[in-house]
This record gives sequence, C-alpha cells and structure tokens, in this order.
Amino acid sequence: MKRDLCILISILLLTAAIVWLSLGQIAPAAALQGNDRQVVILDAGHGGVDGGTSDASGKRESELNLEIVLRTEQLMALLGIETELTRDADVSIHDDSAGTIHEKKVSDLKNRAELIGRYPNGVLLSVHQNAYPDPDSHGAQVFYGGGEVSLQWGELTQRVLQDTLGRANTRKAKRIPDTVYLFQHVSCPAILVECGFLSNGEEASLLRTDTYQKKIAVALTGAYLWQQQMQPDIWRGE
Ligand SMILES: [Zn+2]
Repeated sequence: MKRDLCILISILLLTAAIVWLSLGQIAPAAALQGNDRQVVILDAGHGGVDGGTSDASGKRESELNLEIVLRTEQLMALLGIETELTRDADVSIHDDSAGTIHEKKVSDLKNRAELIGRYPNGVLLSVHQNAYPDPDSHGAQVFYGGGEVSLQWGELTQRVLQDTLGRANTRKAKRIPDTVYLFQHVSCPAILVECGFLSNGEEASLLRTDTYQKKIAVALTGAYLWQQQMQPDIWRGE
C-alpha cells in the first residue's frame, strides 16, 4: 500500500512540475488579483447541526468530509493551488436569524452558494460520504454539475479515484440530480465526490484512516491538475 502511495505521489509531483513548467502558456492570468484569481473552493459537506450520515462507530459524515478537505487543502497549498474552504471546523455556516434545524440547513446552503458565487474563476469541489441500506454497496462516486467542464472533470476524477483507491469499483460518474440545492445555485465548474459508503463497515473503517484519506486527497488533487493541464482554455472559460 505504501509503495502504491509513493508511486501516486511521484505521479502527482511530476504532473505538478509539468503544470508549473507550462504556466506561461496555460495560465497567463495566473497572477490575477482579488476575486478574479483561480480558486478551488473546497466544500466539506454538512457540519454543525447537520452531521449528514454516520458509520456504525458513530463517526459523523461532516467530520470525515472536513478531514479529507483539510488534507486536500494542505496538498493543494504545497503545489501552489489556491483554495478557499466553505468551512474549516465542524460547524454550520447559517445566519444567526435561523432558528430551527431546517432553517439552519437552508441558511447554511444559501451562504455556501453565496460564498462560491464571489469567485468568478472558482471551481467547486464538494466532499461527501455515501450511505445505502444494502451494506455491500461500496466505492467512491463522482457527481458533476452542468456544463462540459464539470462533466469531463467529474469523469476524470472518477477514473483517478478508482485507480487510486484500488478496490473493485465499477461506479460511473453521473450528472448530479436537479434537487441538490448547492449545485442548482452555482454556475462554476462543479463536482461532488461521495468518497465511500459509511454503511459498508469495511469501507467506513478505511475512510477513517490517515492513509486512505491521504489517497483520496492525492486523487482529488491529481485529477484537478490533470484536468487543468488538458483543457486550460475551457476550464477557465466556463
Ligand atoms: Zn453528504
């Protein structure tokens, strides 16, 4: 497992080097200032009053989402990728005026959408965990928002996650349902990654480990860099 991780990190660093060497051609506006800068908005799903799903040990989805987002943020920072977090603690970012849990959830999502909308060159990477009544269900799955870039980024991320996490996973990236509020209220390239199933005991145990979380962070970062390298024009133009 450690050898696989070393190989992955080597590939990632090589990709980063290629991107860095190509910066002059692919991102002449890399020095954009303020809200015009290109930013990966890392969204740890749920938080605070809204824990999302949970595993048999009682670990909340909101905590796992944040752990994976923080690891991804660290790795992206190391590679010079600008990031913004919708939350950096296990909190809901609702308005003070929200009273009931429902109002807090609605306000939280509205505020996340509003934050994402502040970055004209932002792209959204939302991190979640899955759950299903059948305990055998397993495997990471990516859902993508509207537009060609989201589709291609989503499909690429699905493939990289499958290669990186190694378990038999035949899931395909899918268009996100129209009922997902956040994705209905953002216009940037956007994907939502369900990293695994907390309803599957084996996968939930893996998702709680440092190594597995680091692999996910490597996969998400690598896929982002790869997508950016392949299609810099449409990436920036959507
Ligand atoms: Zn969720």
